[in-house]
Amino acid sequence: MHELSIALGIVKIAEQEARKAGVRQVKKITLDIGHLAGVEFEALDFAWPLAVKDTVLEGAERVINKIAGQARCLECDKHYALHHLYDGCPYCGSYFKDIMKGKELLVRSLELLMSGQDQPVADAPADNELVTKN
Ligand SMILES: [Zn+2]
Repeated sequence: MHELSIALGIVKIAEQEARKAGVRQVKKITLDIGHLAGVEFEALDFAWPLAVKDTVLEGAERVINKIAGQARCLECDKHYALHHLYDGCPYCGSYFKDIMKGKELLVRSLELLMSGQDQPVADAPADNELVTKN
């Protein structure tokens, strides 16, 4: 399942960050996932408990920022909401476009649980973009 590999990729990032910080538990993880990233949110929900079991993410609160698709038409230069990856421009019908938003798939932030006390949100890692195969 595609979503399980995504969830496992997220776990890997969280484990790396937790190890760097010397903690064993993540309190909260925030993800940015675009509607055009090819992720089925329901399938991700299903895969999540399997992926995080016995990891730093077990029991962590999970927040997903779902980012709507947005494109800029390369013909008429208008911006428009992109609901599906292959939709054309609603103004001129062109399929040539820059996708501005909606393909995000990354770990935005991790809140690590230090021994008994809360810590500020860790900076998002620079190399947090997940590589996915569609
Ligand atoms: Zn257009």
